Amino acid sequence: MLKTQITREELDRLGEEIRRHFELHTVERGLEFQQKGYVYNTEVLPGRAIVSKVQGGEVYDVKLDLDFFGLSECSCPYEGCCEHMAAVFFYAFSVYARPDAFVKDWKMRQEEPRIAGKSSKLHRQTALLPSAQPASVSLKENATPEEWLAHIQHEFTAFSERHNQWKYDIEEYYSAALQTAIRPSTWWLPGTKKLLTVLGLLYALQKLEQDYDAGGQGASPRLLNYKETVETLERRLEETADEIDAEEAARRWPDHLRSLGTFVSKAITAKPAVPYVRWMDVYRLLWTRLLRQEAWMEQETARVEGMIAGSAYMTESERDDWQKARAHFDVMSGHDKEAWLRLGQAASFHPAEGLFYANEFRRTEQWERLWLWLQWLLPQCRKADRDLFQKLCSYAAEASKPLGREEEWARALVSMLPASYYVYTEFLIKSGRFRDWADYHLAENVAVFELYPSDLRAAEAHDPTLVFPLYHQSIERCILQKNRTAYKEAIRLMKKLAALYAQAGQPDRYELFLRKLSQQYSRLRAFREELTKGKLLR
Ligand SMILES: [Zn+2]
Repeated sequence: MLKTQITREELDRLGEEIRRHFELHTVERGLEFQQKGYVYNTEVLPGRAIVSKVQGGEVYDVKLDLDFFGLSECSCPYEGCCEHMAAVFFYAFSVYARPDAFVKDWKMRQEEPRIAGKSSKLHRQTALLPSAQPASVSLKENATPEEWLAHIQHEFTAFSERHNQWKYDIEEYYSAALQTAIRPSTWWLPGTKKLLTVLGLLYALQKLEQDYDAGGQGASPRLLNYKETVETLERRLEETADEIDAEEAARRWPDHLRSLGTFVSKAITAKPAVPYVRWMDVYRLLWTRLLRQEAWMEQETARVEGMIAGSAYMTESERDDWQKARAHFDVMSGHDKEAWLRLGQAASFHPAEGLFYANEFRRTEQWERLWLWLQWLLPQCRKADRDLFQKLCSYAAEASKPLGREEEWARALVSMLPASYYVYTEFLIKSGRFRDWADYHLAENVAVFELYPSDLRAAEAHDPTLVFPLYHQSIERCILQKNRTAYKEAIRLMKKLAALYAQAGQPDRYELFLRKLSQQYSRLRAFREELTKGKLLR
């Protein structure tokens, strides 16, 4: 039951809070309570809180707030973080992982000699200032790509020897390590400095993935932080790549530039146990933005084809990766259809990977191409991934304007209903198609109070007569439920409708509607009472 109501991410975050606010001995007591079965009647409230009873000296009520941990509470006399709260945490945690492993991992970290105390935040910020350590090796701007990489490797290793990463915020840790590794480039030319930064970011991403793998049980509670850090580093990578003048770099530092591509190819091949870095997208990014030299692309295409040809001993997912890489060069040379064919053959291809291309065409305003890609992608993600579907739909809506294809897009949205409901209704409202909006909801028998209030207000403001039928339908539906609550709702809607008829200058038509209605349902005594109470009967 809990598993469907609470996500792994929420629990990981909760685990972080527990570690931050609780004493180990309290948590151990909490574990004991949970294991003895003292936690019961546990529920997840829609306001993102877990509530539960815990049998202690007596029965206590515990609430753990998932959004703001500080709002969590327990009814026991102890002020602050108590064992009952910890017990409820473990109850929820046990849905995904072993609660005793959580405690064991905590103890292991406490035994580390250099563990920071409670003021770790302050402590780690000063400790992690990169400038606190002199560069152990100086790196020359004109050193070879191999020397660059060796330097970065060396600096990362030295950094990890100086700082135990388990003590720090993950993002802080990796950005400080990166900062240290690229420090020799402070006074370099902007072009080479950026290249070293990209290499450093690639290395940091790989290192993070390896560290996570090596961290085992100890790393898993911090999964969310790892993921966030990967996203931050990926974003920085894209920004830095964009700041590089690809033509200049290809002319002046071709070997260094190419070494970035080599690094990523190796990273794709290496495949960690749990891949969090989207290496395929990194590969696509580097080739699209930095490495797009005709000769290089030809060489890489040939290399990739060689890999595919010799793929008999590869796993399916490895072969897929090279198919995807090959497809990327189809796209780069404008052969989208070939690319779709190849991607379609890769079993591991997920439409989310198409987002890279959609973003790229949107960024470069290649609307026609974006349009074709969306036609290919949308049917694939309609059911699988709602967020992705909506995002791609918003791209299509955007592209339909410069292409003059808004009608076509409207038809496409209709054909994709009900998956496209949110996008479709938003589109209708935004493009001022209020009549279509009203007709659709009328046909679908959607009640007025089920509509988005802002959509309804927009339609009413545009032309109140459009929504009359929607109100009529909803009012009758309420009456037919034949109970007081529904009658009251009907009266509320009728008053609202009266105002709208007045607004439209048709009060007499409203009177007509009202008369017919009270005649039609004259036998429903309770309804007539409500009408009288609402002063709607004269
Ligand atoms: Zn308590």
